[in-house]
Amino acid sequence: MITVSGKTIHNRLAIGKLACMSQGRAELTRTIAEDPEAELAAYRAAKEEVTTRLHALYRESVAKVGELLAHTFEIHAMMLEDEAYSGMVENMIRSEKVSAAYAVSATGRHYAQMLAQMEDPYFRARSADIREITDRLTDTLTGGGKTTKLTEPVILMAEELGPGETMQLDHDMILAIVTHLGSESSHAAILARTMNMPAITGVVMRPEWDGHEAIVDGENGLLIVDPDEETVAAYRNKLDARRKEEEELRELLPLPSETLSGRHVPILCNVGCAADAALAAEYGAEGIGLFRSEYLCLGSDGYPSEEQQYEAYRSIVSTMRGWPVTIRTFDLGADKCAAYLDLPKENNPALGFRAIRISLADEEPFRAQLRAILRASAFGTVRVMYPMISAEWELRRVDEIFREERARLIAAGTAVGEVERGVMIETPAAGILCDRLAEYVEFFSIGTNDLTQYLLAADRQNLAVAPYFDPHHEAVTRVIRYVVEEAHKKQVKVCVCGELAADVTATEELIAIGVDELSVAPNSVLAVKRSIRACK
Ligand code: PEP
Ligand code: MG
Repeated sequence: MITVSGKTIHNRLAIGKLACMSQGRAELTRTIAEDPEAELAAYRAAKEEVTTRLHALYRESVAKVGELLAHTFEIHAMMLEDEAYSGMVENMIRSEKVSAAYAVSATGRHYAQMLAQMEDPYFRARSADIREITDRLTDTLTGGGKTTKLTEPVILMAEELGPGETMQLDHDMILAIVTHLGSESSHAAILARTMNMPAITGVVMRPEWDGHEAIVDGENGLLIVDPDEETVAAYRNKLDARRKEEEELRELLPLPSETLSGRHVPILCNVGCAADAALAAEYGAEGIGLFRSEYLCLGSDGYPSEEQQYEAYRSIVSTMRGWPVTIRTFDLGADKCAAYLDLPKENNPALGFRAIRISLADEEPFRAQLRAILRASAFGTVRVMYPMISAEWELRRVDEIFREERARLIAAGTAVGEVERGVMIETPAAGILCDRLAEYVEFFSIGTNDLTQYLLAADRQNLAVAPYFDPHHEAVTRVIRYVVEEAHKKQVKVCVCGELAADVTATEELIAIGVDELSVAPNSVLAVKRSIRACK
């Protein structure tokens, strides 16, 4: 029995056989071509064929995973047009007289390695995209590929899975995903969570494990290969217990989210894409309490356009059929960096140039986002919410911009709905000044993740200070209580959208304090509902 530690992508369990996905295509041998012109023509034809295939995959995937994630295929088609990549392939064919397949594979390896070594997580994540398009090209050129048809459900192990590859997996045949490379915020990771698939990363693939029995413990980030009988039995029990619990929870689906005394506490969802919103609707959420709109910025090479955003927001709004959809404006910076922002290297990114600070420094993209939100509001109930506010002037300025854009749209005859405005209470300053902030908004949403980090001076990303990062700390509870008291004096609603909202050991206290709504990940909705229904 071998136990290997990795990093949790999605905290579910699976037991089954390992299937190691071969990714040997990058090892194509150097072949000298007799006719470089014919190789150049073959390369160009392969590029065209792959582009057509990518457009088709995009169309097929929209229905499956939503426009936002499917857009990856369109980005891959654009990457194929990249002049540096194509230039290097064509140069190699001409000057070194190698085969098109070898030139593509060497170029892909060069760029993928270069990107994988970069510090910026955005560029590191692009390495998987380069490898994926390179594999598609070499497959087309050599007639090869790794389309091993699975005949039984397996735990899929791969060096790395690109977002397109994840989308193309036959989901009925995959019990779990284990990869070596790939970050928790990659599109492949978001997809794994959306599809409720156990997943871990950071585990080096050993091809000799192919066909071996294994356990994926997504709760603890473990892969156990060749588990002994005792371990299998223990995990089977755990798995049975989880399944039973899920079935019991499913019975709560039609029941209201109400305390024993009949107080209704709506449970909303935190989502990052349209597919998450579909899951939220499936779990009976009463709206989206936090749409992390910055995810729209992470997979591309520029801010998403107003039109792209409008489509994305409208799609979530229609999925939620009248339930409120809370769109948080871009919370970029710190751990969520997009390369095109060209943010300076900071010693303290969490205390740095991020979220609303970026929006106010570069107003045009912010205005475009507000217009997209306002236009989407014509199709349902939309709320807008501002992250990382730490001073009243910021909110005053933000509100001015919001009003200007709203007035402009109305003057141009564009339909807009009534949009409730809210502010995230996630800095100590926002908590302390909440009575003032309440003058500008209809709701507050307490981001306990950042609030805890800033109140307790404990970096939420730093494992070394994890024991200090305690959302149950009396200081956090007191701020939540104060915010609720002050907000209610001014008829401002309070939601909690940080991870604490999904912690069932906190439900009773949050409700007793008077929190009006909770917003949690889609697959926590039912457990939180059970907890609310047990409260007095
Ligand atoms: C929070 O800070 O609690 C929050 C919900 O926002 P995020 O986790 O996206 O920073
Ligand atoms: Mg936050």
